[in-house]
Amino acid sequence: MSQATLPLTSPPAPVPLIDLVEQFETQRSEVMEAVERVFTKQSFILGDEVSGLEDEIASYCDSRFAVGCASGTDALILALMALDVGPGDEVITSPFTFFATASSIVRMGARPVFVDIDPLTYNLCPEAVEAAVTTRTKAIMPVHLYGQCADMQPLWRVAVRHGISIIEDACQAIGAAYNSRRTGVLGTIGCFSFFPTKNLGGAGDGGMMTTDDPDLNARLRRLRVHGDVGRYEHIEVGFNSRLDALQAAVLRVKLKKLDEWSHGRQTNAARYDRSFEELGLPGHISAPYTQPGNTHVYNQYVVRVHEGRRGELMEHLKADRIGHAVYYPVPLHLQKCFAALGYQPGQFPESERACQEVLALPIYAELGEERQNRVIDSVARAFGVAAEPKVISLPMRRAA
Ligand SMILES: *Cc1c(COP(=O)(O)O)cnc(C)c1O
Repeated sequence: MSQATLPLTSPPAPVPLIDLVEQFETQRSEVMEAVERVFTKQSFILGDEVSGLEDEIASYCDSRFAVGCASGTDALILALMALDVGPGDEVITSPFTFFATASSIVRMGARPVFVDIDPLTYNLCPEAVEAAVTTRTKAIMPVHLYGQCADMQPLWRVAVRHGISIIEDACQAIGAAYNSRRTGVLGTIGCFSFFPTKNLGGAGDGGMMTTDDPDLNARLRRLRVHGDVGRYEHIEVGFNSRLDALQAAVLRVKLKKLDEWSHGRQTNAARYDRSFEELGLPGHISAPYTQPGNTHVYNQYVVRVHEGRRGELMEHLKADRIGHAVYYPVPLHLQKCFAALGYQPGQFPESERACQEVLALPIYAELGEERQNRVIDSVARAFGVAAEPKVISLPMRRAA
């Protein structure tokens, strides 16, 4: 019995979890010029573009040195090798992270020793790290998950007390800070990834290591080129893991905008936080928690969904064509390839619970209010809450 026919509109476009096209359009000519510069010179491996980026990243992180390599995974592997981590050694790390954190340790022949996470930050629990130290512990590998620094102060105490190194897995956290110090200088070696979806993403794979130690700098530099110290003099066996000049040239253009993009992510995160709070959603979902003293750069905006309702929320988002993802659905101690390490289900309850409850929502800088409102609206409706009821107030009909 509806008399007024509402105009039929086509369904709104999907909201992707991440969209790199819009970002590229803001820099298209500069990026293409940089690519052209490399092609004109026909100099594709290392060279001026790479050393230029290394200087700029060192200055950005306030580290003495930065060394480019082929990926974030390789950065972790090269860092472990430069610190002589190998068979018989243990490296303490988190089971709630991307696979490469632990696989790099295994790849070097060492043993990853997993400890549980803090349920609020999802980062390594410092007390658990302390308790896991043995005479074989060679390093701690904290992960700055989703773009927030691990709690470093207590880890530094453990490292100094036991004479062990810290390798930062900062792959998701370029520009994040811990008490005003940026990632890359919070440990012995910092490792970064330029995978396209990271906050500073290249046009393919790429990575970087940072350090203040001149000897480690020299060793990382030779390890990425077959242990060559120049003129085919190989003083140890390394890898072939170099950063392409093309990647460096593109990344140098993008680095100029990194802080602006991080700020955009932070603004979006604050809007989500506020809206979820105002809508009374905290009973259903918990917004990300930022530890005091931390600057979060939100490589991911991850909520925790309570009451076992994540699947339901995901169905709802899917129907509304809103991008979302679970980082990560399986904790590393339960991955098949690590079965030989002997871990059992139930050993790291917070990591296992996080795998069941976390959900990432779109956070990229170019998201914009209109699309973000659709995400908020969809989440709210999934829990039976009306998001900002869009009441169209009609003028009261006058009595005839
Ligand atoms: C992306 C990522 C890596 C690996 O980086 P790649 O460049 O893809 O090799 C390692 N650790 C974490 C936490 C990551 O997010």
